[in-house]
Amino acid sequence: MVMVTCSNKDKGAATKKACTNGCLGCRRCERVCPMGAIKVVDNVAVIDHSKCEDCTDFGICAKSCTSGCLIIVND
Ligand code: SF4
Ligand code: SF4
Repeated sequence: MVMVTCSNKDKGAATKKACTNGCLGCRRCERVCPMGAIKVVDNVAVIDHSKCEDCTDFGICAKSCTSGCLIIVND
């Protein structure tokens, strides 16, 4: 499964100053997800795992995340 390992709600610039792998709210993951399973809410990505089933390009969200806070984990 994929998960976002950040819950920080600061804007991207402030987050970048404080942390090397915080969510920047850049929406890159939201744009690439073919299932509409990711939404950025209050500057942090949130995954709806009920929509993440049967992904046609599993893990593309994690690959698109330049900060490294969206990762693939074994469940
Ligand atoms: S694995 Fe696929 S469906 Fe799930 S959040 Fe990532 S891109 Fe979206
Ligand atoms: S691509 Fe990464 S940094 Fe950008 S919104 Fe998604 S989880 Fe956050």
